[in-house]
Amino acid sequence: MESATQEISGVENEVSRSPTPAVDAYDPAYDPLVDATPGKGRDYSPSYWIGTAGAPPEDDGPLPGDTDADVVIVGSGFTGLTAAIFLAENYGIKATVLEANRTSWGCSTRNGGQAQCASGRLKRSQWIERWGLDTALRMHQECVDGMETFKSLIKNIDCDPQPGGHLYIAHRAKVMPGLVKEAQLLRKTFNYDAQIFDAQTVKEQYVNDVEAAGALHEPEGIGIHAGKLAFGYLKKARALGVKVHPASPVTGWETRKGIHYLQTPHGTVKAQSVGIATGGYTSQSLHPQLKNRLLPILSNSMVTRPLTPSEIEACNFRTTQILTDTRVLRHYYRLLPDNRLQIGSRSAITGFDAPKQKYEDKLYADMVRKFPALQGISIDYSWWGWVDVSHDMMPRIFQPNESETLYYALGYGGNGVMYSAQAGKRLAQWIAGDTKDLNLPIFQSRLPYPNVKEFIESEHFAPFRRLGQRFLYRWYHLKDEVF
Ligand SMILES: Cc1cc2nc3c(=O)[nH]c(=O)nc-3n(C[C@H](O)[C@H](O)[C@H](O)COP(=O)(O)OP(=O)(O)OC[C@H]3O[C@@H](n4cnc5c(N)ncnc54)[C@H](O)[C@@H]3O)c2cc1C
Repeated sequence: MESATQEISGVENEVSRSPTPAVDAYDPAYDPLVDATPGKGRDYSPSYWIGTAGAPPEDDGPLPGDTDADVVIVGSGFTGLTAAIFLAENYGIKATVLEANRTSWGCSTRNGGQAQCASGRLKRSQWIERWGLDTALRMHQECVDGMETFKSLIKNIDCDPQPGGHLYIAHRAKVMPGLVKEAQLLRKTFNYDAQIFDAQTVKEQYVNDVEAAGALHEPEGIGIHAGKLAFGYLKKARALGVKVHPASPVTGWETRKGIHYLQTPHGTVKAQSVGIATGGYTSQSLHPQLKNRLLPILSNSMVTRPLTPSEIEACNFRTTQILTDTRVLRHYYRLLPDNRLQIGSRSAITGFDAPKQKYEDKLYADMVRKFPALQGISIDYSWWGWVDVSHDMMPRIFQPNESETLYYALGYGGNGVMYSAQAGKRLAQWIAGDTKDLNLPIFQSRLPYPNVKEFIESEHFAPFRRLGQRFLYRWYHLKDEVF
């Protein structure tokens, strides 16, 4: 690959002239609990974001051979790239990013593009139950600060932002008292201006989701084009001197006398410190600190052809705000800038099952249940990806062993579009030793194991974990639709 020295944003950087092409096909059945790595140089998923982002930016090609690095980041999604950006900007550290497949190949080019003022899957009231009011208030401030971090990062990235907040739509009347209570808590205790709308207001002034029994509106929330954002982060990181090596999976890891030796197919990197940013694509064998610490969950997403003006009117789409519903296995949806509808929700449990047509059919039926006027509309893009859910539903940005220069930022539970930017900043702080304000529980403890000791110690843990997931999905379905 040719290379040249260029001046970008005042920073001199060695850049290659083209993005590294795929050397292997996309694997729709990849499963992090089964496969040892996510592949080597695999092509992107067929997401709308990849289909419409334009060509990926230049990168630094596969790792050229044995190398030394002060800091290695494993994974080139939003988390890995923002960590590298903050390391360079705030601490002058130019990290080396190792990516198994094409750049930002995982969740970051597959999500719903919904940037919410959230981190993990718990509500504010649940934070209070878990940690008490003082910590819950500080956790809220972390999310508010995260929104600011995110907004300042996207200011100079052309990623089609759709601001206006987040409409959390009650999928049936029974959940409205809970929403009213949460909104009161948000306003009075967290000083966060949440509003309650009745069903008529939602349907007449926002969107005619026929299931809507009302909604909670929160002021923060931005829809973005995930592919353009990922590529924007990549360009910014490289302009700051970060090296990004696609097709360079970490396939082996040894730590001797405090130094990490990361094996890849083309050479070994000898690293002083390592940040793990592998999201829902973290394999069981990547590092012992992470084995059985995450529950990867599949989510699928589809995008229709552009809606006609009469279809937009029939669905009364008056907002382009980000929308979710109140199901435990929630739907996330919105009207995109080119008038297509994007919608996503839970998918299969295993990678093997993910490509089965029935999961796309189910999501299609869910879409039509909300928007009957769209019955028969064609789907232009359909894809899925692995969400990193932690066993206590909250992320961790942490150094799991004080005597080892190893750090991770994982477990956002489907709320990582915004929070990955703040987590990247926090991960950079850990790596640079700037830890004075890392005092929330999510910065002070490891990703927990599930709370069933015998399963943890069992060789058959992964299948048991999935049995539990099957049971939970059935239970959530009954809770969402029947009881
Ligand atoms: C379908 C779907 C919808 C979602 N929707 C939303 C949403 O609307 N809003 C929201 O806030 N969040 C959403 N999320 C979550 C969000 O996309 C992520 O939290 C966010 O992109 C941050 O991802 P990440 O950088 O941590 O991980 P990823 O983007 O997954 O990046 C991890 C990278 O690590 C690489 N990797 C793994 N193992 C190795 C190895 N051994 N060596 C080298 N590289 C390795 C992978 O190839 C991958 O590219 C969604 C996720 C999915 C899957």
